[in-house]
Amino acid sequence: GKRVGGRYQILSRLGEGGMAIVYKAKDLILDRLVAVKTLRQELADDEEFVRRFRREAESVASLSHPNIVAIYDIGEEDCYYIVMEYIEGMTLKEFIKDYSPIAINETIHIMKQILQAIAHAHDHGIVHRDIKPQNILINESEQVKVTDFGIALAVSSATITYTHSIMGSAHYLSPEQAKGGKATIKSDIYALGIVMFELLTGKLPFPGTSPVSVALKHLSSPMPFPRDFRNDIPQSIENIVIRALAKDPAERYEYVTEMYDDLNTALDPERANEKRLILN
Ligand code: ATP
Ligand code: MG
Ligand code: MG
Repeated sequence: GKRVGGRYQILSRLGEGGMAIVYKAKDLILDRLVAVKTLRQELADDEEFVRRFRREAESVASLSHPNIVAIYDIGEEDCYYIVMEYIEGMTLKEFIKDYSPIAINETIHIMKQILQAIAHAHDHGIVHRDIKPQNILINESEQVKVTDFGIALAVSSATITYTHSIMGSAHYLSPEQAKGGKATIKSDIYALGIVMFELLTGKLPFPGTSPVSVALKHLSSPMPFPRDFRNDIPQSIENIVIRALAKDPAERYEYVTEMYDDLNTALDPERANEKRLILN
């Protein structure tokens, strides 16, 4: 069969996105399964895409966390490629589609892992910028791994243009990004709020097929309440989504760790009488 970089034998296709095709492969030297992400051939002549592809490997390689897909190798023999940990399982998008409604305890278990991964990235100065269920992998024992830091950027870097910010999916775009603002820790938190909404309800809070109309909903449509979709959601859990999806960044969680702590204590008996959070 086909080989990449001499030592990686391509076995099958795992998935693809806008930028890359990901294969299951065997590392012939270490004799183990890996995932090989290859930059699409038609993008390989574009310097900007090559730079972004490399940056993905660099930003993730600086991280080491049980809930972040590990990077093993990069190369440019045959094609531009990134070799990473192979995750046997499915994307969170497929998981939600297949298993919704997901039990509250399970939702908490999954969200806590995602929040720990993103908190770790933020701790190291890396904003993910493309958080969505398609970029989160989950295995049979419900262990979660965040992947695709493809447009991740060190927080200290220059501002991101509007074209860059709409590269990700419009469904996960924060209101301030919809207005052309740069991606920040707070826009990652907004995307985490959308993912949590989907886990709880099986639906997007701001659906639609036109990116412009979806962006306008993020900006001005009031958020639907998860408890109106399903009556077994504790108010303390719904309040986390309300806080994460605050349209005004000043009212949103400041750090992922705050959201994590809130989630961690959500089922404590003393929070049983919590009232719905009202934001300005
Ligand atoms: P996007 O358009 O979202 O930027 P992309 O082109 O950057 O996507 P990825 O999201 O990294 O590509 O990967 C595409 C798909 O390949 C994923 O949605 C997932 O289904 C699969 N995949 C990616 N990495 C792995 C992995 N390490 N193990 C197993 N499957 C993977
Ligand atoms: Mg992706
Ligand atoms: Mg990507």
